Amino acid sequence: MRVITTIKEMQHTMLLAKKGGQSIGYVPTMGFLHEGHLSLMEKAREENDIVVISIFVNPLQFGPTEDLSSYPRDFERDKELALNQQVDYIFYPSVKEMYPHSSSVTVKVNERTDVLCGKSRPGHFDGVATVLTKLFQIVQPEKAYFGTKDAQQVAVVEGLVNDLHFPVEIIAVETVREEDGLAKSSRNVNLLPEEREQAPNLYQSLLRAKEMILNGERNPQKVVSFITEMITEKTDGKIDYIEIYSYPMLKELTELHGKFIIALAVKFSKARLIDNIILEIYEK
Ligand code: AMP
Repeated sequence: MRVITTIKEMQHTMLLAKKGGQSIGYVPTMGFLHEGHLSLMEKAREENDIVVISIFVNPLQFGPTEDLSSYPRDFERDKELALNQQVDYIFYPSVKEMYPHSSSVTVKVNERTDVLCGKSRPGHFDGVATVLTKLFQIVQPEKAYFGTKDAQQVAVVEGLVNDLHFPVEIIAVETVREEDGLAKSSRNVNLLPEEREQAPNLYQSLLRAKEMILNGERNPQKVVSFITEMITEKTDGKIDYIEIYSYPMLKELTELHGKFIIALAVKFSKARLIDNIILEIYEK
């Protein structure tokens, strides 16, 4: 496994690999790796000749009051985990390498950003789309792997590669969870002990909502109210949003039908957690 820190060397290495006929699978991350990230790498390993991951905490996708400075980092540990996963290259650029001067061009996402994390984190998805545009040019993968824990991100990235004609296939991978159901996240280490105990209620509330729907509930407002009550009662977290939209277009629904996402974001004292489930209901 090689660690590469410059764009020039990464691009050159990937060009040579492509000339040699090797397929490149790519997993972009912000590091502090956990089993969620590892599952993306495992899938990439199965499907490609070369597996590249990047570790880059992208300042462009953090708002001014968000947790950029407290975002957890441990490169030595990440390196070990990636090595065990048979990753071939880690692209590990500095902020200066990625953004040497003020940007003359950035990417603006026009659809699917007025809801969920796009609404509560203005500019976030522009930052994600801009850095991925750069990273895709640097790594030049055939396939790139993303987690459905960040389902809105998957939808936005699919829009990005379709609209701008990137020759990249986006592969979505299921959310990996702790035994108690909490979605694995680098931010979980920033939960206080009591918050960590409460946090599984996020997923539990989504499962209970799923049960309600499977038992016939079709009113999105009633489902949202149920989840709101459960999270308010069982956690000290502050609800950022609990919303239901069609997926992947993220349009409002008056009735639960077709493919849709139930997504939530809850702020604990030092960590904002997100989770979702995607369901498909087709009446006979
Ligand atoms: P991050 O380092 O948080 O930017 O995440 C990098 C990638 O890992 C993104 O595509 C995430 O959606 C994915 N990911 C994060 N957490 C999980 C998880 N619990 N299960 C599966 N994928 C995940």
